[in-house]
Amino acid sequence: MPRNSDEVEKAAMETIKEHKEGVLQSELWKMMGLDSREGSRLVLRLAKKGLIKREQVIVNGRRTYRLFVTEKPIESKLLNISLSSILDIPCTTCPHIDECGLGGYYEPSTCPLIELWLKKEVKLASIRKKQLMQQAE
Ligand code: SF4
Repeated sequence: MPRNSDEVEKAAMETIKEHKEGVLQSELWKMMGLDSREGSRLVLRLAKKGLIKREQVIVNGRRTYRLFVTEKPIESKLLNISLSSILDIPCTTCPHIDECGLGGYYEPSTCPLIELWLKKEVKLASIRKKQLMQQAE
C-alpha cells in the first residue's frame, strides 16, 4: 500500500481512470484501503488540482459523488495561460532595466511596478482557476 500522498494520489488516479463510467467515491476509498476521512481529503485534493471532476448522484437514498478523470488537468491549463502573461511584465518596457539589480536604487524585490503586476497576475490566476473548477464540475 503506497504511503506518501503523491503515491496515493497517483494510485487513486489510476483507479479512477480504469473506470470509464466513473467510480463512486466510497468505492474508491474501499479499493484504496482508506477510511472516509482520508478518502474525502484525497478526493478534495484531486478535485482542487483539477485532476478529477465530481458528479453528484443519489445511491441507496444517500447523496454521494461519482468521480471521473478530467480531460486535461487545471494546473496544465493554468500553466499554458500564465506563461503568456509574462509578456505583460513591466521590466520588458522599463527605462530603468539597465540600472536595476539587487542593492540598487531600482530593485525587483522593492519595485512597486512588479508588485502591482504580481498582484494582478495572482488575481487573474485565481479567477481562471475558479472558472475552470466550475467548468469541471
Ligand atoms: S524590477 Fe521594476 S525597476 Fe526593475 S526593471 Fe523591472 S520594472 Fe523596472
